[in-house]
Amino acid sequence: MDRAAITYATVLLVLLPRGASDDRLVLGKPLLPGTTIVSDGGGFALGFFSPTSSAPAKLYLGVWYTDIPRLTAVWVANREAPATNGTTSAPTLSLTDTSNLVLSDAEGRVLWTTNVATGDSSSSPAATGLATVLLNTGNLVIRSPNGTALWQSFEHPADTFLPGMRIRVRYRSRDGERLVSWRGPDDPSPGSFTYGMDPDTFLQAFIWNGTRQVFVWNGTRPMLRSAPWTGFMVDGQYQANSSAYIYVAIVNTEEDTYISYSLSDGAAHTRYVLTYSGEYQLQSWNGSSSAWAVLGKWPTWECNRYGHCGPYGYCDSTMAAPTCRCLDGFEPANSDEWSSGRFSRGCRRKEALRCGDGFLALPGMKSPDKFVLVQNRTAGECAAECARNCSCVAYAYADLSSSGTKGGVTRCLVWAGELIDTEKMGDMAGGETLYLRSAGLDDTGSRSRAKTNAMKIVLPTVLVSSIAILAGIILACFKLQARKRNREDHKKLGLILGGTNTSDGLGEENTAQDFEFPFVRFEDIVAATDNFSEACKIGQGGFGKVYKAMLNGKEVAIKRMSKDSEQGTKEFRNEVVLIARLQHRNLVRLFGCSVQGDEKTLIYEYLPNKSLDATLFDNSRKMLLDWPIRFNIIKGVARGLLYLHQDSRLTIIHRDLKAANVLLDGEMRPKIADFGMARIFNDNQTKANTHRVAGTYGYMAPEYAMEGIFSIKSDVYSFGVLLVEIVTGVKRSSIDDIMGFPNLMIYAWNMWKEGKTGYLADSSIMDTCLPDEILLCIQVALLCVQENPDDRPHMSYVVLSLENRSTALPKPNQPAYFAQRSTEIEQIRYNTYNSVNTLTLTNIEAR
Ligand code: ATP
Repeated sequence: MDRAAITYATVLLVLLPRGASDDRLVLGKPLLPGTTIVSDGGGFALGFFSPTSSAPAKLYLGVWYTDIPRLTAVWVANREAPATNGTTSAPTLSLTDTSNLVLSDAEGRVLWTTNVATGDSSSSPAATGLATVLLNTGNLVIRSPNGTALWQSFEHPADTFLPGMRIRVRYRSRDGERLVSWRGPDDPSPGSFTYGMDPDTFLQAFIWNGTRQVFVWNGTRPMLRSAPWTGFMVDGQYQANSSAYIYVAIVNTEEDTYISYSLSDGAAHTRYVLTYSGEYQLQSWNGSSSAWAVLGKWPTWECNRYGHCGPYGYCDSTMAAPTCRCLDGFEPANSDEWSSGRFSRGCRRKEALRCGDGFLALPGMKSPDKFVLVQNRTAGECAAECARNCSCVAYAYADLSSSGTKGGVTRCLVWAGELIDTEKMGDMAGGETLYLRSAGLDDTGSRSRAKTNAMKIVLPTVLVSSIAILAGIILACFKLQARKRNREDHKKLGLILGGTNTSDGLGEENTAQDFEFPFVRFEDIVAATDNFSEACKIGQGGFGKVYKAMLNGKEVAIKRMSKDSEQGTKEFRNEVVLIARLQHRNLVRLFGCSVQGDEKTLIYEYLPNKSLDATLFDNSRKMLLDWPIRFNIIKGVARGLLYLHQDSRLTIIHRDLKAANVLLDGEMRPKIADFGMARIFNDNQTKANTHRVAGTYGYMAPEYAMEGIFSIKSDVYSFGVLLVEIVTGVKRSSIDDIMGFPNLMIYAWNMWKEGKTGYLADSSIMDTCLPDEILLCIQVALLCVQENPDDRPHMSYVVLSLENRSTALPKPNQPAYFAQRSTEIEQIRYNTYNSVNTLTLTNIEAR
């Protein structure tokens, strides 16, 4: 027997019922330590228990199994505020005439209460029949005299999921029940792990690591993810030592989706528990060994922890010793690391995809995370949806019509970014077929390019091998030379990056050595730009001029940072450290950089259609941007921002999203540029504060402009402003007095409120736009610019709504209106700081 068990046994002697108990608590009859309420049927007891041998003992109010010798609390009320037994008086649990349970300590202080607000006269003090009943399921229910449940412990779970409970996520509020682990084996206070349904997709469950902040589960990191739901799932699991089964069901209703489970008759006590170490375990009580047997646990092995195998890697759980593998057509991104068991960098494509490439069926897979859900598609339409979108890399289809929902509901998942957290589970374990776009496959799924690429000329074997050897020697020489040069270049870059924090707040040690990065010789840049001639110049930004040039046969844009600006050096550092590590089709690619003396240049892919603002706000060019193009730009920017916020495995806040920082390629596809201001957040960080507010007025969220607080939600705000600009074709700063409204967002909100959203569309898109899409975009934009950052959606929600053309969006609140002039903001901030006796005067950098 371990220490915890001994402690429990001791406690049991003291606290288990001394006499017959009722199953309910009524007005005026409080529950005291040493007495219990036992459910009708005898399965569960409610009372005080102490899980540790601390002196004085910490007392918790909880529910436990009555017939298990080892006290197992399945629910705990006062997790954050344990009581102690006083010498003269003890804690009490009372039912009050306001229909609440109140737990008070020996001194009468309230330690915990149910906080039910009832305006119901039937639950008035005079009402008879108000009671708290412990049901034989373990559910503690406050019942009004007419029998309705006013509160129930099943809706406020601790770490245990019992048969009959529901772990829900509600579509509207995106909240629901979550299991919260204990802090330690003997410590019921809330630990750092939670388990619940995914509030973004409603299609999967997660274990997160992180703490809750009032109704918002920000700052949590996924530790484990279930497979996305494939329909009404009755998953029968065999229970050891009996022929009993556990039926797990995932049900979606009009308001919510929930998981619940039941046991077949005669099953032993069985429960799911989220352990203090973050494992979700299925446990069954084994009477003969007098212990909880673990029937299943998740993560089951190292490699099915969230994202363990990195992007494009998957955990092969069908093997005797599960391990990471690369998806078909991929190879380890770093083979040394991979072979030594470090998989986090994942895999990279062996051969680039072409738009017409077909799909490879991978059966029995847990589909990756970060999908976009497309509804109402047949299997064929789902395949076509992905095939026609060149950036779609995979899809999976399921028919949910057996789910108990009305009608034939289907779900089509498509992926356009990295494939992360994939697993091969086998069909029997609930896997589905993932269709992966593969280089060289035709639309029937058979190899085509591979065949055509095969060598058609057969050379004499001797000749072929001689050429191969010679080529090998030449290649090796080149590689050696390149490596030497690269080492020197990296040394220089390392000096610039300083081997220290890359910028105020980047928060990570990043030197050039940390990543492979092409270094270009300054002489080559001088030659390519004709010594930075005016003829090659294509633009001028705050930190330097931009030139067009040809390098290694490729068109590139070269940004020459202003020589003696310290800010330029910071920008340079940020760009190198950040974009070099990121790859997404909606982010501008950084090809390389060069440093020589105080000359610092950055080499980007060249985007022929320049920045969005140059076309959007130019009356002679804006007609080039018809509505389908604009809608695609909006969706592309949303996807790029989503990648920055969550898909890239780093959390990156751009901080300066605006039309000037969205570049357009030859087909008017958008790429987010300019990472000079960006910051990386670490895993648990949700916001940061800066005294150097840098960004662009009108795009800045109020909390950022006024208090210097930035987060992913301040980027969401900027996205909202940009979205309205794209729809209206109006600069947020150009209409100070438009129709008497103080700014573009307030104007848009008023038009939306009056049902006149259609009037907002730019006159040059009148012929091409769809009113529903305009309405959708404006409503999404208004949700993004709400004053309270917590009210603003995450980018995943924005992407989902735009891709789905979702109609059931929440109603936005009136957008924030705050002073936009630097002097005003400066004054407000000056006053704020002075009022709290802080001498700091924030430096606001208007752009
Ligand atoms: P600031 O940096 O002050 O916010 P900005 O974003 O306009 O201003 P830059 O990023 O230096 O400044 O870009 C200046 C201009 O150069 C852009 O507006 C665009 O027209 C052009 N430009 C920048 N990068 C590219 C690129 N990769 N391809 C084509 N043109 C580019």
